[in-house]
Amino acid sequence: MNRQADFKDLFVHSTGVEDALLERYNLSGPRYTSYPTAPVWQDAFGADALTTMLAKTQTKQVALPYSLYIHLPFCESRCHFCACNVVVTKQTQHAEKYLELLFQEIDLLLPHLDLSRPVMQFHLGGGTPTYMTPQQLERLWVKINQHFNFHPQAEISLEADPRVTTREHLETLARLGFNRISMGVQDVDPTVQEAIHRVQSVEETQTLIDTARAVGFDGVNVDLIYGLPHQTAESFYETVATIIRLNPDRLAVYNYAHVPWMAPWQSYMPQEAMPKGTEKYVIFRQATKQFLEAGYVYIGMDHYAKPNDEMARAWDDASLHRNFMGYTVRAGQAELVGLGLSAISSWKGYYSQNVKKLSQYETAISSGRLPTWRGYALSDDDLLRQAVIMQLMCQNRLDFASIDAQFKITFESYFADALEALEPLEADGLLSIENRRIEFSPLGRIFSRNIAMPFDAYLQAQVSGSQKPLFSKTL
Ligand code: SF4
Repeated sequence: MNRQADFKDLFVHSTGVEDALLERYNLSGPRYTSYPTAPVWQDAFGADALTTMLAKTQTKQVALPYSLYIHLPFCESRCHFCACNVVVTKQTQHAEKYLELLFQEIDLLLPHLDLSRPVMQFHLGGGTPTYMTPQQLERLWVKINQHFNFHPQAEISLEADPRVTTREHLETLARLGFNRISMGVQDVDPTVQEAIHRVQSVEETQTLIDTARAVGFDGVNVDLIYGLPHQTAESFYETVATIIRLNPDRLAVYNYAHVPWMAPWQSYMPQEAMPKGTEKYVIFRQATKQFLEAGYVYIGMDHYAKPNDEMARAWDDASLHRNFMGYTVRAGQAELVGLGLSAISSWKGYYSQNVKKLSQYETAISSGRLPTWRGYALSDDDLLRQAVIMQLMCQNRLDFASIDAQFKITFESYFADALEALEPLEADGLLSIENRRIEFSPLGRIFSRNIAMPFDAYLQAQVSGSQKPLFSKTL
């Protein structure tokens, strides 16, 4: 059985994905970049709890590699769809001050880490990392490099906004060793771009891709969003066709998450012009068909890659992992160390997150404290469910015997409720449970979150205890 070929068959050659079924499973659900998910974490877990935990885990016995994430929060203007933690300002002196705080945070954290471990992944996210000048980014890189031990095959990447990223940025970053670049496009249609307050020409995107390749970046990722105002199946067809011509190695096509109670500026976009119901499914189905016909393979959730891209190979050989940056290839089981405003860290057995406001970040660091806002120590039950959910999300199958062996349980007894909850999904053809194994069908692969959700011990309480949906829709 070739799972990629079966998936392509479903979307390209058959009309077997019905609107009614898509509607039935289009529920609010976590993206499972962590388990338990962030709303479960506790404010009571602060800097002291973090350093106590670090003393237990940053030892030679644990010795997992590191993945580093640095959050650079500044943007020149706000895109109205964006719910990221950003600081919008044109006053570039803020960036210099932030860089100094970041250096101090690094110095505060370093004594708690095992610096002999290899770094397998490094990512600058935001915000807009290239809001910083090439010289500022180089100083940041030098600071990190002084202390951390990079693996020769490490993935070193950044998010770049084509509107503000210069050739000098790319030449500097390529010289420093950056090898992957990810850029937001969202939609190329001018009417959509006006409505979302992000006007970016195809030429700007093309220039950034061409320059990145010319100066030596190995991998180019492009992000699109569906569900934005004025998008139609016809208009998004043109967007996808344009992006396929630009030939990125990986694509993400995110479902727009409308959360105006968290991101009030989303209300500036014309609600009545947003595609709804089946129109959204048509856009999703059509974009998936276009990517598959162009030769990309489906990785999971909203990700596609060229078949020779290492992410596609990692999916094939079941070595794909997931962390706060999404699907990851080289980070494996690495501990993720997040630095900067709102950055999340994922340690062996616990999570921690930095404060979200610049003023709080500055106060903590100026008084010599790690800027930890909240965190969570996983119980044995959490670790077991985390292993199950990550395997379902990354491999789209689960072997009960491997979980039994790892956690000394009998899967069917421990997860009797979850297996019962999966019965209707099995009846709808999303998966099969046979021979002590869950196997997703091609259709089930687009609903990996729905299949993982019954294994989440917190979800029911979270959903019923909240006035507003905490998570985006699965489609
Ligand atoms: S989408 Fe990117 S550029 Fe736009 S506001 Fe969000 S982080 Fe800034």
